[in-house]
Amino acid sequence: MADLDNKAKEKAMDLAEDARQTEWKFPSFTAELFRGSFRWDLMHPFPAQDPEDKKTGDEYLAKIREVLERYVDPIEIDHTGHYPEEALKAFAEAGAFGMKIAKEYGGVGLSQTNYSRVLSLLGSYCQSTTTWLSAHQSIGVPQPLKMYGTEEQKKKFLPRLAAGEISAFALTEPDVGSDPAKMSTTATPSEDGSYYLLNGEKLWCTNGPDADILVVMAQTPPKMVNGKERTQITAFIVEKDMPGYSVAHRCSFMGLKGLSNGLLKFDNVKVPAENIIGKPGQGLKIALATLNTGRLGIPAASAGACKLCVQEVQSWINGRVQWGVPIGKHQAIAKKVANMAADTFAMESVVWLACAFADKENADIRLEAAIAKYFCTETTWRVLDDYLQVRGGRGFETEHSLRERGEQPVPVERFLRDSRVGRIFEGSSEIMHLIMAREAMDTHFKLMMPLMKPKPGATESKGSLILKAVKFYASWYPKLWLPSATNYEVKHLNATNQDHLQFVDRTCRKLARSLFHTMGKYRERLEYEQLILANFVEVGVDLFAMAASLAYAEYLIGQKPDDDTPQQLADLYCANARDRIAANFRAVKHNHNAKFRGVTDALMDGKFGWMATDIMDDYVAKAAARELGTAVEAREEEHAHVK
Ligand SMILES: Cc1cc2nc3c(=O)[nH]c(=O)nc-3n(C[C@H](O)[C@H](O)[C@H](O)COP(=O)(O)OP(=O)(O)OC[C@H]3O[C@@H](n4cnc5c(N)ncnc54)[C@H](O)[C@@H]3O)c2cc1C
Repeated sequence: MADLDNKAKEKAMDLAEDARQTEWKFPSFTAELFRGSFRWDLMHPFPAQDPEDKKTGDEYLAKIREVLERYVDPIEIDHTGHYPEEALKAFAEAGAFGMKIAKEYGGVGLSQTNYSRVLSLLGSYCQSTTTWLSAHQSIGVPQPLKMYGTEEQKKKFLPRLAAGEISAFALTEPDVGSDPAKMSTTATPSEDGSYYLLNGEKLWCTNGPDADILVVMAQTPPKMVNGKERTQITAFIVEKDMPGYSVAHRCSFMGLKGLSNGLLKFDNVKVPAENIIGKPGQGLKIALATLNTGRLGIPAASAGACKLCVQEVQSWINGRVQWGVPIGKHQAIAKKVANMAADTFAMESVVWLACAFADKENADIRLEAAIAKYFCTETTWRVLDDYLQVRGGRGFETEHSLRERGEQPVPVERFLRDSRVGRIFEGSSEIMHLIMAREAMDTHFKLMMPLMKPKPGATESKGSLILKAVKFYASWYPKLWLPSATNYEVKHLNATNQDHLQFVDRTCRKLARSLFHTMGKYRERLEYEQLILANFVEVGVDLFAMAASLAYAEYLIGQKPDDDTPQQLADLYCANARDRIAANFRAVKHNHNAKFRGVTDALMDGKFGWMATDIMDDYVAKAAARELGTAVEAREEEHAHVK
């Protein structure tokens, strides 16, 4: 059974491996960090936004702010679940559906930094709006077309998308989420290859029910590569009026009440071959590359929400008096609020740094985008949960109810619900761990895997592989024990923050050493040791966020020498991060991983039935049977009607 499990995992990993993008012009700060090299030069001086680009962004943000104020009432949208048509029209007129589309195709042509600034603004106000606009262009048709489309496809679709025709990204299916390589939607080529017949279902497609143009991933016939059958996934552009395409169900969620999201059905949809993006078989690579850059949208919106909370919390902890003093004076509250501010500062630093990297052409931002997405969504949940607690009962009350009874409607309850899915979609936190671990181990996997786990059909001799590995490790490994040669060149950071900077530098080398030693211990099994790899990844994430916070603080103090708050925020973030890093290193050796396995195995074997006392234990099964029955009947009825 374990063997079968590992074989299935291996197949999924092989396909994911084929789909990884591998060629870049600019190096990744974080990839270097995992190899033990602290490339402070890549983030210092902090790559601040170019003044011309900033001016463009300021003007555009003013335009979007106007639309928000005029057409979007986030409290009403959350309360009714209805997203106003006139807001979508106003956004289309303001060019908001073409923010990321180049001007030559009718778009606004914003840089990644300005686009993220808009998402931050939206995220601080109405996350349903963020999702409409970002699903359209962070992951919808414009992004894969920009990267892989032909000139003809760009000319045909981009002007329509920029003008407000809505797009969506359809990858997930009822049976495949995190492992899209196993998708069952098929695209069967016609005999002459001029078109494909698309069949299957796509689940949770954001914007899907209202989309005009979708990018749909489907399996095309497999190919033999090195004697192995390789699944081929291909990306298709599908238009809503193609016969056989239908919306089977509109989904609703705990948050993002104004979202348009649904289950889509493809029943012999005839798609012309010229609607393939890239080449047949490149679909998974396109989907993953789309998500690499697309992932930067969510962190920007998350940072926006938290920045608003940091502003709002000030008047609350001053004005709310309990036990004779403002609640901000109680230590327990002060700790939460201080961490909210420091964590938000770190998020802001990570987001702007990752955006600046993304604005460089062909920069390797896979790790930074994954870190930004993972770090910001996880941290946002913590920040909002703390803010909710600090607001007491009012934190749990909806804005609508607060407004109705004449109190200030502070959006923390809505933000908390809306932000939760950030840890799940566009790659869940667990999948971000896997992606980051894979990239962190890249050098070792390339050198050692062919030796430890040779692939069938591999041609290079063992001797040559050993020679290559020895040559690399003989020069790389000793350097990890030498003192740093990094020139910090900081002018403004105080002694404590300079100490944090040196900590980052020496801990990179410790991280690289520990990774290497751990690989020696677990060998090829390390790729299945998710929790140990997660400990290393967490260290890398904190080191990146520490370095980003210190670089950003150094920049901000340079701009305003009299303001020492960036100094304070960077220091608090780094102090907390150092505690977490110590705990993560400790957990590589001393952990409860075997106990987790044992308890979960027992649970999976049904051994905890004895706990089922005094509960409505058959409620879920009964509800599922009843509801499923109705939904299936409704869908069958609908399809009979369509036919
Ligand atoms: C509101 C919303 C909007 C969405 N929008 C879109 C969209 O526009 N387009 C689209 O294609 N999809 C969309 N999705 C789907 C989303 O991307 C998936 O929900 C997500 O990828 C996770 O897949 P899943 O829900 O099937 O979970 P599963 O893959 O079934 O995972 C269940 C749990 O197991 C974990 N897990 C899975 N595999 C591993 C592993 N190898 N190691 C460790 N842990 C693992 C997951 O992290 C998760 O915690 C949306 C989902 C929601 C809820």
